[in-house]
Amino acid sequence: AKADGRGTFRFFEPDMDAQLQARRALEVNLRKAMGAGEFELFYQPQINIGANEIGGYEALLRWHHPERGLVPPGEFIPVIENTGLIVPLGDWVIEQACREAAGWPRNIHVAVNLSPVQFRSRGLVQSVSRALAESGLAPERLELEITESVLLQDNEMTVSTLHQLRRLGVRIAMDDFGTGYSSLSYLRSFPFDKIKIDQSFVREMSQRADCLAIVQSVANLGRSLGMPTVAEGVETEDQLRQIQAAGCTDAQGYYFGRPKPPQELVHTLAALKHT
Ligand code: C2E
Ligand code: CA
Ligand code: CA
Ligand code: CA
Repeated sequence: AKADGRGTFRFFEPDMDAQLQARRALEVNLRKAMGAGEFELFYQPQINIGANEIGGYEALLRWHHPERGLVPPGEFIPVIENTGLIVPLGDWVIEQACREAAGWPRNIHVAVNLSPVQFRSRGLVQSVSRALAESGLAPERLELEITESVLLQDNEMTVSTLHQLRRLGVRIAMDDFGTGYSSLSYLRSFPFDKIKIDQSFVREMSQRADCLAIVQSVANLGRSLGMPTVAEGVETEDQLRQIQAAGCTDAQGYYFGRPKPPQELVHTLAALKHT
């Protein structure tokens, strides 16, 4: 502890100063980065297994840092969530995804990830509604991916936000399904449009019977509730066969394509237009 000049003592001050400074520096950097156009959305295809066709793309945020190069979201999103900045950045993601998807073939959707912090912020419904209006994207072509942690506070506000979003006409997908504490009860409190089975189960299902059993039960559950089920993280043909046999309706993963910048989708999208 040290004296702060007014005769009182403050504990841990150097630490808090350092943390605060680091946070301020990050905020400044992020604001600059947004202004300088250092953020970009990559897109990864989601495949309808039955039709063997691309049904849509998931937008995945990338930061082109001037010194560090391409920074994956796992490295900066958790930090941004601790600042208020995830809200303006998240708004930008929604706007950008809608703008880009508006130029795609009409049967192709875009999926956007929502941070729990963004989900609980006041202006979310308005931001989504504005992004749709400004881009002209049909609402049913926008899919919002939320994780179970959004629903941890299973309160009226959460359910009301979900219903307001649904009323706009957008679809809601439950991401990383199976990783939370009470996945099943969430399906009861709100009717999702889609379930995404977490990639950890897909990765391990060939060696672990319990993981395969989970993939199979989620696919069955989806079928009986009338919700499509997406298997994430499909990397091999064997995994594709297994999730198909399990009854998953959709798949996403490196086997079908890695996340790519929009200019690399141009040819694929042009070909889709003519089929
Ligand atoms: P997620 O939503 O579960 O996204 C799937 C992640 O798995 C992506 O990582 C994707 O590149 C990766 N992936 C896809 N297929 C495969 C595969 O076959 N094998 C393996 N090993 N990985 C695969 P990415 O792009 O690094 O994103 C990580 C997480 O960051 C996302 O997980 C999501 O939670 C978050 N995120 C990404 N973009 C945004 C965003 O715009 N907003 C928010 N709030 N979160 C985002
Ligand atoms: Ca996701
Ligand atoms: Ca996921
Ligand atoms: Ca995840």
